[in-house]
Amino acid sequence: MPALILDGKAVAAETEAELLERVNELKALAQGKTPILATILVGDDPASATYVKMKGNACRRVGMESLAIELPKSTTTDQLREKIDELNNNSEVHGILLQHPVPSQIEERLCFDNIALEKDVDGVTCLGFGRMSMGEPAYGCATPQGIMRLLEYYEIPIEGKHAVIVGRSPILGKPMAMMLLQKNATITICHSRTKDLPKIVGEADILVGAVGKPEFLRAEWVKSDAVVVDAGYHPGGVGDIELKALADKVSAYTPVPGGVGPMTINTLIKQTVDSGEKSLRN
Ligand code: NAP
Repeated sequence: MPALILDGKAVAAETEAELLERVNELKALAQGKTPILATILVGDDPASATYVKMKGNACRRVGMESLAIELPKSTTTDQLREKIDELNNNSEVHGILLQHPVPSQIEERLCFDNIALEKDVDGVTCLGFGRMSMGEPAYGCATPQGIMRLLEYYEIPIEGKHAVIVGRSPILGKPMAMMLLQKNATITICHSRTKDLPKIVGEADILVGAVGKPEFLRAEWVKSDAVVVDAGYHPGGVGDIELKALADKVSAYTPVPGGVGPMTINTLIKQTVDSGEKSLRN
């Protein structure tokens, strides 16, 4: 039987229509004010510039404003932290996105952690991660939270399932593991020192590929009936998992493109609207 396609593009489009309504309601309540997402781009990496532009476009689609801040490649950690402080103190700004990665001279972790919890709509702070892991309110990290929203939309059972996450980055693998754990999955996290990866991947009821290497996870390792989530996106339109051969084997999968990517941006925008509502409704 062909696998269920977890269509992130369609779910994101459906949510955008709801977000547009919420933003319009807020505008009517708050004298025309909308939630505002501040985006910070440091340096001139073309891929990062494209991602930031896509996020600004998504804000406009739901009737929301964004504030695009571009800083030179030579920016220091202190200068970036000062800019973040300024945005933390700006009551017009409801969410702050610092585009990852920043140039190597900057201590990215220090800068992420300078973002105020209530404006951490991309879910990158240690405080937000800790609170989320403890089941306390916090905005989830955008990519794994987008994946959770997609699994929920398609009513994929999670409780009691063995979820194998390949990758342990702070913005993807680690928060993904904690979110699936919150939903009562049994978790295995794999990384570059993991031994016998094919065997562990073969035990996954839910497999999340977050490795950053094109088609690194091979179709023959994957159990039939698994739910396959591919966070990767590489030139040629392939992800981190060899998906083509899985379409008739697994129970469900996220396509590349059109699966995880649109849900990431959509989650960032949704969480900015959530934050804007908290602030503008008071
Ligand atoms: P990352 O920071 O480079 O982390 C990659 C992870 O993969 C690391 O934990 C690394 O292990 C692990 N790894 C590397 N080689 C491995 C191997 N041979 N066996 C097992 N594990 C291995 O990447 P990331 O930022 O998490 O991104 C992962 C993927 O998601 C990329 O393809 C990226 O493009 C994509 N992504 C997509 C979105 C989106 O919106 N769609 C957003 C973010 C990222 P160690 O920790 O041991 O080094």
